[in-house]
Amino acid sequence: MTTSGSTPPPVPDPRALAPARKVLREVFGYPEFRPGQPEVIAAVLKGRDTLAVMPTGGGKSVCYQIPALLFESGVTVVVSPLLALMKDQVDALRQAGVAAAAINSTVSAEDQAALRQDVVAGKLQLLYVAPERFGDGAFMAALRSTKVALLAIDEAHCISQWGHDFRPSYRDLGGVRPKLGNPPIVALTATADPRVRDDILVRLNLRDPVVHVAGFDRPNLRFDVVRVRNQKEKAEAMAEKLKTLKKDDSAIIYCGTRKKVEDLTDFLQRQRIKAARYHAGMEDADRRRIQDAFARDSVRVIVATNAFGMGIDKPDVRMVLHHDLPDSLESYYQEAGRAGRDGDPAECVLYYATRDRGLREFFIDLEHPEPATVVDVYRALVSRQGERTHIRDLMTEEDESGINAAIAALVESGLAGRQGQMAWAVRPDGEDDIDLAGLEEHRAHAYAKLDAMQRYAESMTCLRARILAYFGDENGAAACGNCGPCVAPVAASAGSGDDEDTERLFNALRAVRRRFADDANVPPYVIFADTVLREMARKRPRTRIEMLAVAGVGQVKYERYGEAFLAVTKAAAPVVAPAPVSPPRPGGGRVAYRDRKSAAIPETVQRTWELHRSGLGIEEIAAQRGFSRSTIANHIADLVTRGEITDVSPWIDAATLALVRRAANGQAIGALGVIKEALGESVTYEQLHIARAYLSRPAAAP
Ligand code: ADP
Ligand code: MG
Repeated sequence: MTTSGSTPPPVPDPRALAPARKVLREVFGYPEFRPGQPEVIAAVLKGRDTLAVMPTGGGKSVCYQIPALLFESGVTVVVSPLLALMKDQVDALRQAGVAAAAINSTVSAEDQAALRQDVVAGKLQLLYVAPERFGDGAFMAALRSTKVALLAIDEAHCISQWGHDFRPSYRDLGGVRPKLGNPPIVALTATADPRVRDDILVRLNLRDPVVHVAGFDRPNLRFDVVRVRNQKEKAEAMAEKLKTLKKDDSAIIYCGTRKKVEDLTDFLQRQRIKAARYHAGMEDADRRRIQDAFARDSVRVIVATNAFGMGIDKPDVRMVLHHDLPDSLESYYQEAGRAGRDGDPAECVLYYATRDRGLREFFIDLEHPEPATVVDVYRALVSRQGERTHIRDLMTEEDESGINAAIAALVESGLAGRQGQMAWAVRPDGEDDIDLAGLEEHRAHAYAKLDAMQRYAESMTCLRARILAYFGDENGAAACGNCGPCVAPVAASAGSGDDEDTERLFNALRAVRRRFADDANVPPYVIFADTVLREMARKRPRTRIEMLAVAGVGQVKYERYGEAFLAVTKAAAPVVAPAPVSPPRPGGGRVAYRDRKSAAIPETVQRTWELHRSGLGIEEIAAQRGFSRSTIANHIADLVTRGEITDVSPWIDAATLALVRRAANGQAIGALGVIKEALGESVTYEQLHIARAYLSRPAAAP
């Protein structure tokens, strides 16, 4: 937060919260608060202005609903931009016996009048309205003759032009409080953007606000990014993923454009995956039908643009897959966060090809024209001396998007007019009034958000940690142990019931497969399906004949690829006779481990060990013993391999370890050079020695 004057939340007094907890249990039926709720509710109950930043599905509503029920008198007015959501909330509250209502354009004139009487009579505890309602004289008169205990502004980011969802109707909310008798305000949003947060504080004129960011971690969600090379591979990978969806489970697939929704739905249907499409280009009735069908579970898989989801509260979505790179991590988390609202495990997977960024850049150009283009267009209009000109005639190339955006910017700053496809200059001398800096700033802002999104897509480190850092939620660990980079490579294997060694071998086989697939530019399963690799991992064939006995390995495929896979399975096959004490085998299996552990620890290693235990670091031990650092690191690695040292945190932190694990991609780590090259400065050779030993231990936790 950059805004001065905001304070961290007071530590809630448990006694003060007892009534709130009682309402949570008795009215809402929840045993415990979610993260952030106690702090926010405590602040609101104290009459403090509050900004609550919590994720979608994080439970923001009870932050104003519970206070509304606890206030001795007065109504809590809730501003929400979404009619559908309002209705759901009011229905649910009424079910729970709460005096709640909504006044909006869908309510008949008579009902509105009746509700206004309820307001005046003080019969309502919660009243939901759209922001436009504050311009309605009769409504305002009703509110003036009653007490407003609290003004709750939901989806408060809509007030900011920097937000992804700016709504002009929100702009005037800043002036509403005085007209309602100056109640305290609680603003709620899921937006991370510090600029948007600042805007909320400033535009709503919050007084010494409590700002609380919490609850962004959704431990039941597993995040991953699947990298693909092209759109075809992407569609195939997504189809494969959807085939793992259990029969009665639901999934949402987000696409960046309507066209992609259409194409992907068609593709999935051809793959016999029952999927329905949803986007803003469809008839309202069709959209409603699909949304209802999804809510009622008669449609399980929805392929949609981001038009889908606002106002959807389906708790048991098990997968949210993204076909295209979202414009920001907020958008991504908002959409991905629709998975697993019931708290059960769910997956959020982004499918990503490097070129996907292009689509987003295209959209940014559409929305935020380059300053130079705006100037060019203005000059072109001026040169026609105010005459109406067809937009087509202004275009130098096929750059229609830029022109439209430029004209929109000119219209907004009062320098140009537009009607249909015709545009004209309003005055000839306005070039200096073009807000070049503002235009540039908006563009830069959009690009910065896209950059953060791309860094997520390409992240080699914990995805969850990245998200939490982005949102400013300080409750996360460096590595969660439950996302793609933390658990590399992501097992389509979850729940296979295989032991660790088999799992590791399976992953090694997948790595071999990926090399073939990359070389041939085909999706991996074309080489061998997961099921085939899994059987290989279980049977560990040692010979050609044994390999051919694995279901799915035919003559032709064996000729093409068999040897490479055989080399891996043979190495891992059970050792028949006890091997003689073997030389160190980095990344070796259980046998090597036992051999080494049973062998006596060389004296020189023991000496290093002693010095380590006396508290010296690698540098100091090396200096004292006159060895190089890497020799000492090797001693440590040896001790790790032997299981004598089990905690490697003095040398390598969890995040870096996760990085190495990710880079190793499930294979036993052999030469370190490859990994070092992949990771660059983020890890030292000494750390790699130790990490290799650690990750190769037979008991290495995934
Ligand atoms: P948000 O507005 O932050 O997106 P909601 O207020 O709609 O989230 O809450 C999401 C879901 O979580 C709702 O079904 C709500 O009833 C539920 N919920 C809220 N608080 C709790 C809680 N303390 N324990 C369990 N469920 C909760
Ligand atoms: Mg909400």
